[in-house]
Amino acid sequence: MKALALLSGGLDSALAVKVIREQGIDVLALHFYTGFCITERKRRMDVLAEDDPRRYKNDALATARSMGVPVEVLDISQEYIRMVTKPKHGYGANANPCIDCRVFMLRSAAEHLEEFGASFIITGEVLNQRPMSQRRPTLGIIEKEAGLDRLVLRPLSAKLLPVTIPEERGWVDRERLLAIEGRSRKPQIELAARYGITGFAQPAGGCCFLADETYAERFHELLAHKPDRELTQDEVMLLGAGRHFRLTDSVKVIVGRDRLENNLLARYKSGRIFLTCTVVGSPSVLIDGPADDVAIETAAGILARYSDAGQGLSIPIVVENGGPSRTIHVTANKTFDLDPLRV
Ligand code: SF4
Repeated sequence: MKALALLSGGLDSALAVKVIREQGIDVLALHFYTGFCITERKRRMDVLAEDDPRRYKNDALATARSMGVPVEVLDISQEYIRMVTKPKHGYGANANPCIDCRVFMLRSAAEHLEEFGASFIITGEVLNQRPMSQRRPTLGIIEKEAGLDRLVLRPLSAKLLPVTIPEERGWVDRERLLAIEGRSRKPQIELAARYGITGFAQPAGGCCFLADETYAERFHELLAHKPDRELTQDEVMLLGAGRHFRLTDSVKVIVGRDRLENNLLARYKSGRIFLTCTVVGSPSVLIDGPADDVAIETAAGILARYSDAGQGLSIPIVVENGGPSRTIHVTANKTFDLDPLRV
C-alpha cells in the first residue's frame, strides 16, 4: 500500500508522513512549486553555489531527505497563477485563496495517484487550525471538488473526521491515528519530540507570500491596475522583492533592499529599464512598464534618495534599456517624499 503525501516543508506534513509510515505504509512525498513560496524564491535568487551550506534550502526537500522519504517536485506555477487571480472561494485575510489552493493541490496530486502506484493521499491538515480552509465542512468541500471524496486522510486529526476509504478498507488502522484540533502547536511539538524531529520553527502557512500582509497589499494593488486580472510569473516574482513605487497606472519602480534583491532585479531587466550607480553605495532600480524620460528621472531620483550620496551631491546613474546604456546625472535629494508613490 502506498500513499502520496502533500509535503509543504512545515512540521505538520512531516508528522503526517511519520504517523502513516509507522503503520508500514509506503509514502511518496509531493512538493508543489507554486511560485509563491518565500524560501524557494530566496533559494532561486541566491548566487551561492548549490552545495554552499549558507545557501537557502528548500524546506520540503530537506525534510524529505532527513526522513528518508522519496520526493517529487511538481511545478504548478503556470496554472496556479490563474487560480490565484480568480479564486472561486475568495481570499482569506491577505491574498491567500486557501480553499482554492487546497483544491488545486489535491487535484494535481490526484492526477498522479495512478502514475505513482498510490491509493490515497495524506496531508498535514489539522482540524480548525486555520479559519478558512481547515474547518470540518470546508475539508469535505475541498476533497469533493478535487475529485477525491473520502480518499484524503489527515492523520493528525483523523479521529475527529469522517472515516475515509483507507480506514474503512483496513489499509490504515484508525485507532493509531490522532485527534489533534485547533491552533495550539503544543500537541505537534510534543509529537515532534517523540519522533526526534527538530528545526521546524516555521508555522503553517509561514512560507507562502500570499498569506503575507505586505505582499498581499501589493498583489491587490497590481490586480486593481489590470482590468483582465492576468498576472505573469515575472510580476509574481517581483512583487516579493524590494520597495515598490507606482508612477502611473502602468509604470512601477522597484528598488532593491540588499544584495540578493539587487541580483534578482538584474535578472529581470530584459524588456525593462534598469538603473544602477557605481560611484556610491546604492540600490539597483528596475522600472516595470512603458516609462518616458520623466518617469526615468523620477526613478533615478528614488535611487539617489536611497543611495549613500549626501544631500545635494550629483551622481551618475547608468540607464540600461535594451540597447547601449546611457548615463544621466541626478542630484541626491534626501527629503524626496516617497510616501505618495509607495505601494
Ligand atoms: S497559505 Fe498559501 S500555500 Fe497555504 S493553503 Fe493558503 S494559499 Fe495555499
